[in-house]
Amino acid sequence: MEWTQSDTLALAVQECTQCLGIGMRKNARKDNSVCNCVYRSIFRACFARFRQCITKEKRHSHVVLEYSARGGRRITWGRKDEEYIADFLLVSRRYLTEDEYKVFKYYFLLGADWRLCCPRLAISKGNFYSIVYRIEERLGRIFRELKPYSLYPLDEYFNGRTENQTPSAVTVEDSRNVTDIGAGRRLVQRIKVPVRRAA
Ligand SMILES: [Zn+2]
Repeated sequence: MEWTQSDTLALAVQECTQCLGIGMRKNARKDNSVCNCVYRSIFRACFARFRQCITKEKRHSHVVLEYSARGGRRITWGRKDEEYIADFLLVSRRYLTEDEYKVFKYYFLLGADWRLCCPRLAISKGNFYSIVYRIEERLGRIFRELKPYSLYPLDEYFNGRTENQTPSAVTVEDSRNVTDIGAGRRLVQRIKVPVRRAA
C-alpha cells in the first residue's frame, strides 16, 4: 500500500529520533519510507486488542451479521473476537522465524519478562530486546498491509470493510501466504447458517 504522511503522523512516536515524530524518513536510497515506530505502534494497538479479546468473558462475545466486503446483498456472519484471535495468532506464527516465534510466545503470549526469557533462550538482554523490536516492526507492517484483509485499522476489522485494494509492499512470497490466510476466513464464511430464520 502507498503510505502517506497523513497515515503515519497519528501513529508516529513523538520522541522518535529517526522520524522526529512525523512517521516518515529517508531510507538508504533517499526515498521516503515509513518509520519503524509507526509499525511498532500498529503492533501494540493490535496486541492490546488481542489481550482484550482473550480476557473478555465469553458471554460478552456475540455473533455479528455483516455485509460482504465485495458488496452486493450477500450477508455473512461471524464471531469477530474469535476471528481476530485466530487471525492474530495465525499471521504471527506464519511471518516469524522459529527463533522470533519463541520470543513472541514467551514474551507476548505467556507474559514472561526478559529475566525469565533470556536464560531460557540463552541470549543476552540486548539481543532479546532487539528481537522484540524486530517482531513488533514486522508484525505491525504485516497487520496493516495484509491482503486481502488487514487486521489494522481495528475499527474497520471489527465494524466494516478491510479489504486491501492497493498494491502492497509485501513480497511475492508474502502475498502467497496472505492468500492462504484469507482462505481460513473464507472457510468460516462458507458455513451455512439459517440467517433468515434467526432474524
Ligand atoms: Zn519514528
